[in-house]
Amino acid sequence: MSNDYDVIVVGAGPAGSICARSLGIAGVQVLLIDKAQFPRDKACGDFISARLCDQMRRLGLYDAVKKVPHCLIEDLLFSHPKVGSFYVKESLNRESSTGFVCRRKHLDAVLFEEAEKCVDVLAGVKVKGLVMENGQVIGVQTEDRTIRTKVVVGADGANGVTAKALGVETFDENHHAVAVRSYYSNIKGLTSSVELHFLDQVQPGYFWIFPVDLAAGEANVGLGILSRDVRYRDLKMKQLLSDLVKEHPQFRERFAEAHCSEPIKGWSLPFGSKRRSLAFNGAVLIGDAAGLIDPMSGEGIENAFRSAECASLKIQKALIANDFSQSSLAEYEKAVEAMLRPELRKGYLIQKVSRSPFCLKLIFSLLKHSRTGRRVIANKFF
Ligand SMILES: Cc1cc2nc3c(=O)[nH]c(=O)nc-3n(C[C@H](O)[C@H](O)[C@H](O)COP(=O)(O)OP(=O)(O)OC[C@H]3O[C@@H](n4cnc5c(N)ncnc54)[C@H](O)[C@@H]3O)c2cc1C
Repeated sequence: MSNDYDVIVVGAGPAGSICARSLGIAGVQVLLIDKAQFPRDKACGDFISARLCDQMRRLGLYDAVKKVPHCLIEDLLFSHPKVGSFYVKESLNRESSTGFVCRRKHLDAVLFEEAEKCVDVLAGVKVKGLVMENGQVIGVQTEDRTIRTKVVVGADGANGVTAKALGVETFDENHHAVAVRSYYSNIKGLTSSVELHFLDQVQPGYFWIFPVDLAAGEANVGLGILSRDVRYRDLKMKQLLSDLVKEHPQFRERFAEAHCSEPIKGWSLPFGSKRRSLAFNGAVLIGDAAGLIDPMSGEGIENAFRSAECASLKIQKALIANDFSQSSLAEYEKAVEAMLRPELRKGYLIQKVSRSPFCLKLIFSLLKHSRTGRRVIANKFF
């Protein structure tokens, strides 16, 4: 039976849209499917690092993204209850590029529109599962039809269907975090700093305030904690967030006249510290579906971009060779490992060490007084 498309990309978040667009530009017949209609919301801190800005520039997407509402970031503010706070200036290691905070509703809609210029899209259509024949993925199943293809790209995020259908274990509480966020306006003392507060109540993890609109005192406010600890301590994450802003001595004054403008939303973060299979007969996984979030910072958009571009290149190679077996697509997995593993390993080490309150305090003391240490952090985030 003939294929409807060369490639079907399931999920049009950053990973799926970037992969589809890149394949489309190369002349590949692609169908990009998302269960949502765009613009759609996605629970996120909305922080776009300067490194990611560089990637967007390289891909010719930066100007389109910068047209949507965003807040430019000048530095990072880190605070620890016992050590105090310090700033990491972006200018420590780069001159040309600043990061920014931009609601995912806007960012993802732009990326989706850019992909739509190059490929066929189906929005508002949920993929229910993969279609297999003799151990090979040969298509996807939606509510009302089967669509056949040579390769499926699973880009359907942390709780998607593709990784599960491919037999990947998607949850390990030691390599996974739960995070919640909302938007608050009228916050006092909001500046162009991304604030990361390592409070006792939020360990191992952090509480963040990321400015989205300085004039309105509006910020994305949230917290993320390792899933294992959420379970041990039976934490009610949404309650914890609203209690912190109302009652914590460091924040209650700043939030005294603030309004929570959207319901608090939670979502999962599969950390890249747990290695997953990423290549299968007729399928690959990218972005959060591949579990590639940085275990130290919780950032995942950059690795979603990087895995998406990498998958696009290797799929083009497989199309030329007309070989969609696991061993052919394994080139993608090897490339992602080589590109991302060293950094994911480093992030995991720092995250693991800082789970000890003593070590976290020591790290903060060192960073507060060490320009070199702060440069390492700046490199990580910027
Ligand atoms: C609270 C929170 C804060 C975060 N903060 C940051 C941050 O500040 N900076 C950062 O870089 N990263 C952050 N992250 C991580 C970041 O959100 C993810 O790494 C990023 O969204 C991954 O992109 P993706 O395209 O792989 O997946 P997603 O963005 O999750 O996109 C998946 C897409 O697949 C679609 N989909 C799902 N299932 C199906 C289906 N069955 N059929 C069709 N479509 C489907 C969804 O509708 C969605 O559009 C945060 C995560 C959380 C939870």
